[in-house]
Amino acid sequence: PKRHIRARIFLPHLVASMEEVEQTYIMIKPDGVQRGLVGEIISRFERKGFKLTGLKLFQCPKELAEEHYKDLQSKTFFPKLIDYITSGPVVCMGWEGVGVVASARKLIGATNPLNAEPGTIRGDLAVQTGRNVVHGSDSPDNGKREIVWSSAFELLLDMNETYIRIFT
Ligand code: ADP
Repeated sequence: PKRHIRARIFLPHLVASMEEVEQTYIMIKPDGVQRGLVGEIISRFERKGFKLTGLKLFQCPKELAEEHYKDLQSKTFFPKLIDYITSGPVVCMGWEGVGVVASARKLIGATNPLNAEPGTIRGDLAVQTGRNVVHGSDSPDNGKREIVWSSAFELLLDMNETYIRIFT
């Protein structure tokens, strides 16, 4: 009977390990950095159980901001968005885990912080869409694309895939 109990306890881990480990790109925007929310935001992803695989404080050049948000080029707020993202340093991060892309979007909350649920980062820490403190990739493909957002951003993992440290 003991063995039976153990099998039931470990089964969820076996199932989880068969699911795909994803990577996502999370960026703390200039308002998050300026307001001293870096630790708070990183802490939420750590407490959830995801693995930090890269981190860098980075002043985003205008061209890179335009490339990152190129899908929004036609929007009237686009110039303001570029000014905002380039207004001060951002914290670029890679996070890894099963289902991390969708889960990170849930932790972040709705684009407009007034619609974001309490308990989410934007729901708890922001008020304006144009100052919504954090970015998270919206698909696994974008996660992979955005994680190489700049040549300054590298992920360093040791051979056992345990976390050593990050960055140049
Ligand atoms: P999300 O960041 O939630 O994926 P979008 O991809 O739609 O949202 O937009 C990217 C970013 O552009 C938002 O996080 C926000 O900073 C900015 N943005 C979106 N809509 C507006 C708006 N109406 N006014 C100002 N900024 C906006």
